[in-house]
Amino acid sequence: MNIIILGQAGSGKGTQAGILAKKYGLEHFDTGKLLRQVARLDGELGREIHEIINVRKELVPSRILKEIVHLRLSDMPREQGIVFDGVPRNLEQAGYFSETLKEFGRKIDKVFFVNIPGEESIRRISFRRVCRDCKKVFIMGKDIRKETDRCLDCGGEIMHRIDDTVEGIKKRLQVFEEETMPVVDSYREEGVLVEIDGGQNIEKVANDIAKNVVIR
Ligand SMILES: [Zn+2]
Repeated sequence: MNIIILGQAGSGKGTQAGILAKKYGLEHFDTGKLLRQVARLDGELGREIHEIINVRKELVPSRILKEIVHLRLSDMPREQGIVFDGVPRNLEQAGYFSETLKEFGRKIDKVFFVNIPGEESIRRISFRRVCRDCKKVFIMGKDIRKETDRCLDCGGEIMHRIDDTVEGIKKRLQVFEEETMPVVDSYREEGVLVEIDGGQNIEKVANDIAKNVVIR
């Protein structure tokens, strides 16, 4: 079973991918986490990714993402189901996604689009803070009280990512609308898309998703 979860910033797609992975024994394909793992490895690809994400702090080009997907799929048995979290982000990525999956004898069974309104995305994300070291996410006013608090897990410095400010979120929402919505629409045309109301609480969203997962 190969599942894709897409959604705007703050839609809770990562949380839902985690729930699905646990419930059905799927591999949670978390691109950010995977990139950070490979960046720690010695070797050409590891060094290149380290340079991009840790030194230049840029987004990885599609070519690298492609290599990562390939790398991950090649050391996984075909029966092992996967839940892809937040990728593909644009039509180019969607194209090589289908190609690579096909190459490994897989197909996309379901795509969940966890949809939330823009204001909700802004409301949820602007309170988000992240540990500079272990990348754990905290909610201001809930997990932590002030900007100078340290990470509850590793004691690292907590930051408000530029991406998570109101301006940053608006920009991300616009990119989602322009680049990722065409991907959502193409999966809708293929008949594999299920749209989920992401404005509900975590359990309700998880239930709506589970109702549409067919185990064969
Ligand atoms: Zn930390």
